[in-house]
Amino acid sequence: MTDTRVTVIGAGLSGLAAARRLLSSGVDVLVLEARSRVGGRTEGGHTEDGTSVELGGQWVGPSQTRMYALIAELGLETFPTYNRGEHVVQLGGSQGRMASKRGAVPKLNPFVLADLFQGLSRFERLAGQVPLDRPWTGPDARALDSQTLETWILRNLRTRTARNYFRVATEAVFSAESSNLSTLHALFYAHSGTDFEGLLSTDGGAQQDRIVGGSIRISEMMATGLGGRVRLDSPVRRIEQDGARVRVTTRAGETYESERVIVTLPPTLAGRLEYDPILPSWRDQLTQRLPAGSVIKVHAVYDEPFWRDDGLTGQAASDRGPVKVTFDNSPPGGRPGVLMGFIEAGDGRAAARLSVEERRAAAIACFVRYFGPRAAAPVEYLERDWMAEEFSRGCYGAHFTPGVWSDFGSALTEPVGLVHWAGAECSPVWSGYMEGAVRSGEQTADDIVATLA
Ligand SMILES: Cc1cc2nc3c(=O)[nH]c(=O)nc-3n(C[C@H](O)[C@H](O)[C@H](O)COP(=O)(O)OP(=O)(O)OC[C@H]3O[C@@H](n4cnc5c(N)ncnc54)[C@H](O)[C@@H]3O)c2cc1C
Repeated sequence: MTDTRVTVIGAGLSGLAAARRLLSSGVDVLVLEARSRVGGRTEGGHTEDGTSVELGGQWVGPSQTRMYALIAELGLETFPTYNRGEHVVQLGGSQGRMASKRGAVPKLNPFVLADLFQGLSRFERLAGQVPLDRPWTGPDARALDSQTLETWILRNLRTRTARNYFRVATEAVFSAESSNLSTLHALFYAHSGTDFEGLLSTDGGAQQDRIVGGSIRISEMMATGLGGRVRLDSPVRRIEQDGARVRVTTRAGETYESERVIVTLPPTLAGRLEYDPILPSWRDQLTQRLPAGSVIKVHAVYDEPFWRDDGLTGQAASDRGPVKVTFDNSPPGGRPGVLMGFIEAGDGRAAARLSVEERRAAAIACFVRYFGPRAAAPVEYLERDWMAEEFSRGCYGAHFTPGVWSDFGSALTEPVGLVHWAGAECSPVWSGYMEGAVRSGEQTADDIVATLA
């Protein structure tokens, strides 16, 4: 049995940030991680020539102040996402191009554009009214939380193309369909990350910058700084508490005792651990209602980023899948050329049942539709199905279904005895993002330091 003051479960960004903060406050800590690596929903991969490829979370953007500060503290650097030229837009059966400087709204016929603008401005206005600390207390919160985002789209947008724009945008942001989300949650999420257009944008938005060497470097460097306090291959099975101490048991039967525990697992996985005493009903019922999104992230590697010569950014948005959203994910030097795409929501769930070869063919066919015949012959193909990952079971994060904020919102971060909850989903600011994960970990560590003192 090992004894420290705080045990952190999970060595993703949140757990590592919490442990780092505890240690710098003079509180001894141990991190237990199920996987054989740190980073959780961020993961580093490599092409055959050694170029780093991000299989999970990767971008940072303006107003993610904690991430930029952390990147600098760790001696890492960012570089801009390639965004020169035009995006490919395929909406409502038409194929077009859109200058990247237009932001996130494509050139459409005037009726559709007017419809889309009024819908977006109504959405942004409502989002701005959601109180980030307690979303369920804002104006009309209960009514907004009683309808899916799809209902809101049907009531507030008139044209098929504008509705499809909202649906594609929803899948890109949540890896879930608008029919699966509470409207209040979609509004909260947009406000949490500043605004909806920012979540969709590259320059000036959430996709603006990448980290040299990959986002995994952040977790690796935080873990190194914790000097042996991270134990890999240690999936936790059970948490027992008696009012004074908490005991954590791994699947292998190792036990760790401490004064506090921070659980940084995605909410659904946190609900699958055994607790003694059992969790209060409100906490367990919350974790029964926070499903993870469905996403497979794919990369096609080419000798060079040929789309740049055609004046294209490598970014495409389409209402026809299975890959509906793409980006240029080439390294800072521009060689090799890497096209990245997301297979999300229903497309992701359908693709999960295909073989890798079938998925590869379907993904490459989309790249050809967007960027022409040269996309047909990548030298390499890499993918990560996040739904199949035992210690994530879906991504990018959990989404709130109708009624959850209203009925269970306060249970999200409320400690249960000596057990605290952290993770990207627990942050009022940039919820669901790397920024939210780090903020939540650090905030929870500060809360614990205050109570231990
Ligand atoms: C494909 C993809 C793209 C994304 N894109 C972006 C992006 O561009 N920008 C952005 O900001 N965010 C992005 N995200 C989201 C971002 O990666 C996450 O919000 C963030 O990494 C979550 O960190 P976390 O520490 O809260 O959770 P996690 O990273 O999930 O950490 C939880 C940790 O707990 C471990 N664990 C699970 N079960 C157990 C157990 N029983 N015992 C011990 N340990 C356990 C897990 O292995 C994991 O390491 C993306 C995510 C994905 C998957």
